[in-house]
Amino acid sequence: MRCPSTLVDESERLQAVEEYGLNKSYSLSSLAPVVRLAAEMFHVPIAAVNLIGDRHVFFAASYGLEQACDMSRDVSFCAHAILQKEVMVVPDTANDIRFHDNPLVTGSPGVRFYAGVPLYAPSGHPIGALCVMDRVSHQTFSVQDSERLREFALLVTDKLELRRLEAAEQMWPTRFYEVAAASPGPLLEFDQNFHVTFCNGATAALLGYTQQQLAGAPLARFLPGLERPRLEHLIAGSTLNGSNGHLPHKALALHRDGYTVPVELVFFAWKKMSHRHFGVMLTDITDGRQRDQQLYRLSNFDALTGLANRRVLRHEVAGALDTGADVAVLAIDLDNFKDVNDTLGHKIGDQVLCVLTERMKDLLGPSEKVGRMGGDEFALLLRRGELAAARAAALSLMSEIGKPIEAGGLCMRVTASCGIALSTEAKHSAEELMGNADLALYQAKSMGRNQVSVYIPALRQEAIERRQFEAELHRAVENQEFELFYQPQVCLKSGSLIGAEALIRWNHPQKGYLSPAAFLPLLESGPLAGDVGTWVLRQACSQAAAWRQSSGNDSFRMGINLFAAQFFAGDLEEKVESALQDNGLPPESVELEITENIILNHNALILETLRRLRESGVCIAFDDFGTGYASLSMLRDYPLTQIKIDRSFTNNMCCSIRDEATVAATVGLARNYDLDVIAEGVETEEQMARLKSIGCDEGQGYFFGKPLPAEDFRQKFLVH
Ligand code: C2E
Ligand code: CA
Ligand code: CA
Repeated sequence: MRCPSTLVDESERLQAVEEYGLNKSYSLSSLAPVVRLAAEMFHVPIAAVNLIGDRHVFFAASYGLEQACDMSRDVSFCAHAILQKEVMVVPDTANDIRFHDNPLVTGSPGVRFYAGVPLYAPSGHPIGALCVMDRVSHQTFSVQDSERLREFALLVTDKLELRRLEAAEQMWPTRFYEVAAASPGPLLEFDQNFHVTFCNGATAALLGYTQQQLAGAPLARFLPGLERPRLEHLIAGSTLNGSNGHLPHKALALHRDGYTVPVELVFFAWKKMSHRHFGVMLTDITDGRQRDQQLYRLSNFDALTGLANRRVLRHEVAGALDTGADVAVLAIDLDNFKDVNDTLGHKIGDQVLCVLTERMKDLLGPSEKVGRMGGDEFALLLRRGELAAARAAALSLMSEIGKPIEAGGLCMRVTASCGIALSTEAKHSAEELMGNADLALYQAKSMGRNQVSVYIPALRQEAIERRQFEAELHRAVENQEFELFYQPQVCLKSGSLIGAEALIRWNHPQKGYLSPAAFLPLLESGPLAGDVGTWVLRQACSQAAAWRQSSGNDSFRMGINLFAAQFFAGDLEEKVESALQDNGLPPESVELEITENIILNHNALILETLRRLRESGVCIAFDDFGTGYASLSMLRDYPLTQIKIDRSFTNNMCCSIRDEATVAATVGLARNYDLDVIAEGVETEEQMARLKSIGCDEGQGYFFGKPLPAEDFRQKFLVH
């Protein structure tokens, strides 16, 4: 675990925190609705506003925590969040060196996801953070999500500022004016006769007077619409501890030049030497920034598309179920939408989402509802619960979505996958029905793109098993249950050993050795692939070094398979370099294997990384050649050193003229491009002989040896 560092001007910062007069036994009840809405909005169980003290962190407000515990600063996530200006997002605490062994992660409440935005005092010092947390990881917290969290932070800052003024009055009556003068928002104090006794510079600027001109002036001069009885009523409702009831009141303030400014007023009151004194904070809402309306909008609607958000849609679904009607919920997810964002930018991505929103809205009947669940996910409530109707609706939606879209001067198409859940299945809660639609969507996604799938109970069972398996995978990483097996690669001409390919196995405590087919799909789609890939890289390099030394074979080469995730981490070159350096290996002793799928999906980034890796001298093999859609131009553009002919061709080459021709053509291609070529899956002597006669350099397969544990490999192939 890494403890958060303190800031340069820490003592001033602590002073700023102190001005709020909050501590572990005094939280701010006016913040309670804000944190609750934040939690609902982001669909997480926990949200809090934390202030960071010297050693301790205390909750100004919290939601979803059984006990607002007194927390040491060392373990606080928010103490890290205030070190940066941006929103701090930790998608998975288990993968973050700062937090993976944090007691809040390993114990209660078991935080796996965190997003926090710093909160600032008027002096500019970060005093704490507003955060949302979950007990499961969240891989998708978008730029828009961060923006929304910031908007919530503005609301929090408003409420905190009121508290600061209140505290100033309570703690140091004489300091109140100092604090109020520094307050960024317009603020004034008045007496029982409704005459101004003090105002700050911001008020003067808002109303067009100087501070001196306003001193002693009646409120009626610049708040003409506020009749005395109304004012009396408003201040009667505000007390010294008025943080509870600060409901803003709207009014028109009269500027000195005669025009009016819409404002929101928050009144507060206190006793000063047996006299009651009153304060009012004015917020200019000309630009429509009515904070309470904003809160309503934020918590009910998606900022980009204006659609209902998850919370509202769930509410609608619950309402529909309550009437006893049969309904259907459709969960929709755009296929590969990430690519649109990655290649064309978020702006165009946003335009596409808005176009699709309009298309979906056009298709819906008046009582039907569409909501945006986040990112590229939508959900629909249909008030007809028969399967045929739901399926027809899904198909027409998908065909609308699939029509060409013009955005940013480009014409493109996207497809979507859809999951359908019907309330007739059983009497569901809204949550369960929407969850069922998500499970059906997951099923549709795994069938490929542009598919519709309908929920059946077996899907829930599968999801449970998948989750268990995911948990087991995490355990496997922690307990180092993975092992590498090694398969020999042989020179066909001389029959001598060239090297080995490292192949991963999971030594499962109950199920024994599992082959990659049993767990790689899940591993690759989850957050662990990067770490496991790094482990494979380091382990295979250290084995290669050991064998080169013990056998004296200093041309021994190790083939290492890569995951796509290793490219995204952005530090693959450094990882490779340090694995080589730590083991004293020359770069050409390692051959990184990439499949077409990795390349095809994510062109530019991977090409760049591969170029630099190749420049450093590392070999690069094109795995499973011939099975994908790779074009010949890839052989030209990618910095390859070897082609690996897929074992399906090798396997059939003795009984299929076509496959033999494919192998021969590939060998010819390799020669033309000046690449080495190895045939995988060589199982028989006949296959070996044909390959040799075609001119293939190298072979790998059961004929030469199956993948073996390191020690077995050494004894069989390296001891003479
Ligand atoms: P691959 O890279 O094409 O690896 C060759 C696969 O073919 C291995 O399966 C190997 O056991 C199998 N094989 C080798 N010779 C023969 C043969 O003569 N006949 C037949 N029928 N099969 C043969 P394995 O070990 O199950 O690995 C499957 C795939 O899993 C690999 O295909 C590779 O794509 C992936 N994989 C394995 N280990 C790793 C790893 O450490 N990292 C990554 N990223 N992927 C890995
Ligand atoms: Ca391979
Ligand atoms: Ca292969």
